[in-house]
Amino acid sequence: SASSMEELVSLCKRRGFIFQGSEIYGGLQGFYDYGPLGVELKNNIKAAWWRSNVYERDDMEGLDASIIMHRQVLRHSGHEATFSDPMVDNKKTNKRYRLDHLVKDQKDAVQAQVAEQMGESTDNFPALVAALVRQPARASAALIAAGVRDPFSGEVGDWTEPKPFNMMFKTTIGPTADEDSYGYLRPETAQGIFTNFKNVVDSTSRRLPFGIAQIGKAFRNEITPRNFIFRVRELEQMEIEFFCVPGTDEEWHEHWLERRLSWWEAQGVPRSRIQILDVPKEDLAHYSKRTYDLMYDYPTLGHEEIEGIANRTDYDLGSHTKAQAELGLVASVEENLDSIAKLTIPHPETNKPVVPFVIEPSAGVDRALLAVLSEAFTKETLENGSERIVLKLKPHLAPIKVAVIPLARNREEITSVARAIKADLQRLGLGRVLYEDSGNIGKAYRRHDEVGTPYCVTVDFDTIGQSAEGSDGGLKDTVTVRDRDTLAQERVKISELADWIRSRLA
Ligand code: ATP
Repeated sequence: SASSMEELVSLCKRRGFIFQGSEIYGGLQGFYDYGPLGVELKNNIKAAWWRSNVYERDDMEGLDASIIMHRQVLRHSGHEATFSDPMVDNKKTNKRYRLDHLVKDQKDAVQAQVAEQMGESTDNFPALVAALVRQPARASAALIAAGVRDPFSGEVGDWTEPKPFNMMFKTTIGPTADEDSYGYLRPETAQGIFTNFKNVVDSTSRRLPFGIAQIGKAFRNEITPRNFIFRVRELEQMEIEFFCVPGTDEEWHEHWLERRLSWWEAQGVPRSRIQILDVPKEDLAHYSKRTYDLMYDYPTLGHEEIEGIANRTDYDLGSHTKAQAELGLVASVEENLDSIAKLTIPHPETNKPVVPFVIEPSAGVDRALLAVLSEAFTKETLENGSERIVLKLKPHLAPIKVAVIPLARNREEITSVARAIKADLQRLGLGRVLYEDSGNIGKAYRRHDEVGTPYCVTVDFDTIGQSAEGSDGGLKDTVTVRDRDTLAQERVKISELADWIRSRLA
């Protein structure tokens, strides 16, 4: 796997996976563009998730809800009030930081000083952050007394009191300038699932238990976007809301933990590289009964969240439903006088209306892509002493499945065969097949190793029966297939090539 984030950033830029957003105007922080290979890899990850969670199950429906949502949705979901991170300003530089990031990035001694000032210890970092948020005046004094430095200037800062900063992007809707004509870009895809709960139940006749799966963009105005695509302001999520009978929720929670870990494994991210964090009670989000955070060991960053699997009880449907008082909700929810729908479903045994509990596996596509790349990244020293970088991606994730290379790009007999092979293989529907005549063969192999192409097919003079050594023509109508991982080269008949490739990649 990759030994540093820099290694991955450099590969991504060099080979066209990921670029800085708005780069030709100096870039926009927290926004990235996926290039020719990045878009393929991302699509393949999303397709693998969709296959596993929608097609291979009989208890799931898909959804693609809109990104801009009614402000009432984000009000009743709790996001207007609580979707914020604590922020502090340095009065000297006018720079603004996320409080926990700022403290975490200080030297150990400085961190210990802050903790001491607050009467906490650095062993329990979330508790320290909570104390700073709870006592803003004391926090400001503690940061200053401890000599917390501004990462931008490197100087000790003059820190304000921490304030909550809401991370939602607001946008005006329509031509009127009236104060109420605004909506939010969704900060998570989940809310579109809850607001469509009744539509999906009514249109599919689903009974409990069942889930709704969605993949899509979400937007968070992160105070300090950083670490490449790990923390961005425009992200993509793959989320499931799995609705079940209250009382069966804990069992389903375990089911989803197991199921998701085995999915990561199938994408080349083994369990041994993921720590399961059973989030301590005091750190749980207000809606959660229990949450497992899957913490992947990212290069340079260490263990950080790649996916959260939360038991959200009946909080979400309970928050968005009308007639809350008569539903016997378990979660404590804010009063809702705006909703026009009753979000219940018949209990499978009693047929009485019930607000189901929800298990939510929520993974980030960008963080998934980073983990998949990091695991696949391999540096090898070859027999001749040279070094090669190879992306050992699972074939179903590889951005390019096969590169078809004509050995001479100005010989029509050869290029026409290569083009016909490319068209043939493309028709298999496995993903992108590339006709590759951009340079010498050694360079082409090296490039395809670096982007993880499982097979290179080379059409040469033997293929067209014109071997230089005047061979017996036994190689006519065959091509060379080179294996990315073993470097083995095999001669395969053109007539058998499609089956040969399909049996290895499908
Ligand atoms: P963090 O604590 O790292 O900010 P979070 O707990 O806020 O993450 P969730 O709200 O649980 O994250 O979101 C679910 C998933 O969405 C995360 O596991 C992560 O994969 C992804 N995600 C969340 N925020 C971002 C972001 N700013 N950039 C990229 N991916 C993100």
